[in-house]
Amino acid sequence: MTAKSGLTLRFLGTGDAGGIPLFGCDCEICSNTFKGNGRRRPCSALLTCEGHSILIDAGRTDLVDLFHEHPFQRILLTHYHVDHVQGLFHLRWGNKNLCMPVHGPHDEQGCADLLKHSGILDFSDCLEPFVSRSFDKLKVIPVPLNHSRLTLGYCFKYKQTRLAYLTDTIGLPAETERFLCRWKPTVLVLDSTHAPGSASVRNHNDLHMALHIHARIMPETIWLTHISHELETYWLTGGLQLPENVHIATDGTEFCL
Ligand SMILES: [Zn+2]
Ligand SMILES: [Zn+2]
Ligand SMILES: [Zn+2]
Repeated sequence: MTAKSGLTLRFLGTGDAGGIPLFGCDCEICSNTFKGNGRRRPCSALLTCEGHSILIDAGRTDLVDLFHEHPFQRILLTHYHVDHVQGLFHLRWGNKNLCMPVHGPHDEQGCADLLKHSGILDFSDCLEPFVSRSFDKLKVIPVPLNHSRLTLGYCFKYKQTRLAYLTDTIGLPAETERFLCRWKPTVLVLDSTHAPGSASVRNHNDLHMALHIHARIMPETIWLTHISHELETYWLTGGLQLPENVHIATDGTEFCL
């Protein structure tokens, strides 16, 4: 990779909707996680560019603690599933002098009463697929994904660096794949929820699907996220050696590009 541009991504959560440890599960992965490391919280990240921070998804319910000293400036939501928005349910009743812009797909239902009783959160500025926006010096192009409800992935460009953040999705819509093949992300962050051959594959990639997307788009580096205890178990039992530039994201991992 060439010289770093000053863009930093920190994974705040890398788990699927149930997370790791999974409630009531006594598999080896979940049992070990209760004893120590390896926790996977709701899938989310913090993107920082020249001191300006954007929270990507808000599934963590401890956002007040995490960002007490250094708050983010805006929130981008991929979609309105609970594991991506539940942290907003009490963030909305924050200091009334604040107004926090929350950008996401135009989904009239939102989640429960979040849009109706939005408190300090401003949901008015929705994002449209392939309509590019600028947030300070960062350019953002939303792209549609394949999921059980309206979901956007985000392609961020800063200087010559391009980062695509794509979760939750199963495969990619043809127009998104065409765009990404042309746009050529430096780094791709991708949904890889299930173990190969899992019976529960419906709205998320399994590992093989994620690797196929990787092979078609060919970023310099890929980070797999939204990971289930089932996929962790597959790795634990020696499943599939990953190519060199394929990384498994963990909570707290940070990279600069
Ligand atoms: Zn999810
Ligand atoms: Zn488990
Ligand atoms: Zn989802």
